[in-house]
Amino acid sequence: MPGNLTKSLNLLYPARCPLCDRLMSPSDRLVCGECIDNITFIKGPVCRKCGRPIVSSTETICDECKIRKHIFDCALAPFLYESTVKESLMNFKFRHRAEYYYFYATAIIAYAGDSIKAWAPDIIIPVPAHKKREKERGYNQAFLTAREVGRYCEIPVSKDLVQRVKNTKPLKELGYKERLETLDGAFEINRKYDVPQRVLIVDDILTSGSTLDSMAKLLKSHGAEHVYAVCISVRV
Ligand SMILES: [Zn+2]
Ligand SMILES: [Zn+2]
Repeated sequence: MPGNLTKSLNLLYPARCPLCDRLMSPSDRLVCGECIDNITFIKGPVCRKCGRPIVSSTETICDECKIRKHIFDCALAPFLYESTVKESLMNFKFRHRAEYYYFYATAIIAYAGDSIKAWAPDIIIPVPAHKKREKERGYNQAFLTAREVGRYCEIPVSKDLVQRVKNTKPLKELGYKERLETLDGAFEINRKYDVPQRVLIVDDILTSGSTLDSMAKLLKSHGAEHVYAVCISVRV
């Protein structure tokens, strides 16, 4: 795109900082000058199953994953679901800040790029949104993020290998078991495609892991051997 056109588009649609939502200045990249020093990835040892930080250096699995045997193989997320990131994800999902995908995909690649490489997925799939909900929002934030991760890692992305056929009510207030029950039958495999052996799911928030488990269960019953996940954030 010619430079002057890009400039005038920027004037019409000034970019906002994906973390604090303030208008960015033309010299800012990814996030604003104030937020650049405050980006904090999860540090230290994390649960090798769900990616949550673990306090004890002798453990490799968190307390929750000791009780709950997840169906997905492994998940990682660069951020904790709290304060700034929590607010930013609300904007990303519900307040038309579709362009935040670029920052979050970049963060996922910076944090989990080596693991993605080692997992060597054949395909990347976003957690699908129900058609009705995606229409209301205008986009599926998980797909936008997945598409950018796939573009960077040179791995194909499928938007409709897994389809959401049930528009579930918000899972927020529910526990793991209730979530699994609510999600029962929510996803289906699109018969147009074969399910590859190694799948990477992309989602925005890992809470109990029930969504990833529902999808992993479905994918594994259709031939996937390994199902990994990268999420933008993980709730502790
Ligand atoms: Zn900012
Ligand atoms: Zn865990």
